[in-house]
Amino acid sequence: MAKKVAEVYIGLGSNMDDPRDQLHRALESLAAEPCIDLVTVSDFYQTPPIGPSQPDYTNAAAQLQTSLSPESLLDRLQFIEQQQDRVRTLRWGPRTLDLDILLFDDIIQDTERLTIPHPRMAERAFVLLPLAGINPNLSLPDGKTVSQLLANCSVQGIVKLSA
Ligand code: ATP
Ligand code: MG
Ligand code: MG
Repeated sequence: MAKKVAEVYIGLGSNMDDPRDQLHRALESLAAEPCIDLVTVSDFYQTPPIGPSQPDYTNAAAQLQTSLSPESLLDRLQFIEQQQDRVRTLRWGPRTLDLDILLFDDIIQDTERLTIPHPRMAERAFVLLPLAGINPNLSLPDGKTVSQLLANCSVQGIVKLSA
């Protein structure tokens, strides 16, 4: 029997060591994963940082299909972060690469290691704007759409980057 395939959205971010290249490398690694299909990649955006003072971020979102469990997908994402020299020091501090699971089918879960939907996505324009570019009608498990959530966020300082 074919394994169940989940529809997943992830957020990508970087603000160190050539952020745009970091995102391209991460997308190549994802596309090369045997149990992950990279379906759609959003535009890239330059976004002001949250948290401590640090350089602007480059953010994007991607739509994946995968037969992996949420935890196994997080393992793969964290492996790719480590391959690209992600060092965890300050919370929300500068990083070469951040890969977060935003949505995983309609799963709602809150475990020590993994919260889905991503707990802060609904108020983050740097997450919602790239997602809206993939599908503005995409809805969270509570029924709210990405474009509805985006209407309540400030997109001040966010700039779409050329491809
Ligand atoms: P934020 O979660 O606010 O975007 P961050 O991405 O900088 O912050 P990280 O240091 O990348 O945070 O991750 C901290 C921990 O968050 C990870 O070790 C992971 O176990 C946990 N985590 C919980 N939910 C998720 C999720 N949906 N996607 C990725 N990591 C998650
Ligand atoms: Mg994050
Ligand atoms: Mg993260």
